[in-house]
Amino acid sequence: MARKRILTGYRPTGKLHLGHWFGNLQNMLALQEEYDAFYFVADWHAMTTMWADTHEIRRYTEEQVLDWIAAGLDPEKCTIYRQSDVPEVSELALYFTMVTPMSWLERVPSYKEQRDQITDKDLGNVGFFEYPLLQAADITIVNADLVPVGEDQLPHVELTREIVRRFNNVYGGGADGTGYIREPQALIAKTGARVPGTDGRKMSKSYGNAIFISDEPDEIRVKVMSMITDPARKLKTDPGDPDICPLHQIHKLIGSPEAIAEWDGCCRSAECGCVAHKKALAQELADYLGPFRERRKELAARPGYAWEVLKAGAERARPVTNEVITTVRRLTHIEP
Ligand code: SF4
Repeated sequence: MARKRILTGYRPTGKLHLGHWFGNLQNMLALQEEYDAFYFVADWHAMTTMWADTHEIRRYTEEQVLDWIAAGLDPEKCTIYRQSDVPEVSELALYFTMVTPMSWLERVPSYKEQRDQITDKDLGNVGFFEYPLLQAADITIVNADLVPVGEDQLPHVELTREIVRRFNNVYGGGADGTGYIREPQALIAKTGARVPGTDGRKMSKSYGNAIFISDEPDEIRVKVMSMITDPARKLKTDPGDPDICPLHQIHKLIGSPEAIAEWDGCCRSAECGCVAHKKALAQELADYLGPFRERRKELAARPGYAWEVLKAGAERARPVTNEVITTVRRLTHIEP
């Protein structure tokens, strides 16, 4: 039986960090084994917020693909492509603008949220306002059955479903059942661990608190040694609380249960100090990411490798995107 198709996209924002590694990336690795997985680099989505300075988008795209593949995404198992290499996406988004009331876009929660939160960029552009339509087109153009999302992203899939339903109501038909485009379903993905950054806030490149998965051991050491720990623990003789210590939260993600229990105990009894714990974590983290780092270096040494993967992925997606756009043109009477 044919495997169901899933679709996930990432905006290229540079190298991936531990927050990505323990979050979405582990899901993507698992899903490529079970589904016909389509993973795309959402460069047009990046443009909706980075429109005033697009210089870095290509470099970020390449970094992201290298990170993905070095982490274990296999271009033979899943289809990895770049959004802008599939122009049918933008055409379908245009058709969706015809059937989508503006009020549907105005009420998208993340639209208001991001306009309030992102104050260093002008988000009054139409591209940003319309990005949910582009998202709906990303999903629909590859005939995706399922979209893996966390609970908080459910409204996006629901909006896509509403847009597709509206499209099908207006233009769909045909006694043989072929005159419709596919309405996707959400696949509730396991939420990954919340990974704290070096300052204790959620790890994020924009906060400047990220440990990148491709960081060299020296960079990891500098970052880990600067991490905040239990803020109430001023002296080595003060008992600490590992439950509120960001460093310990990261250690729990990679350490053995025995080692974690030992650090937990000696922190509470003030038998060990934070400097020793930081040194231990820095070493373990550098070792843990070692195989990934080596693989990434090998891939990065192959000129144009990431672009070859993206090109091949777009070619692999083409039969399905052609089929969907041909159906859409026929249903809208643009083509006979
Ligand atoms: S000893 Fe370890 S767990 Fe305890 S506060 Fe220091 S770094 Fe955190």
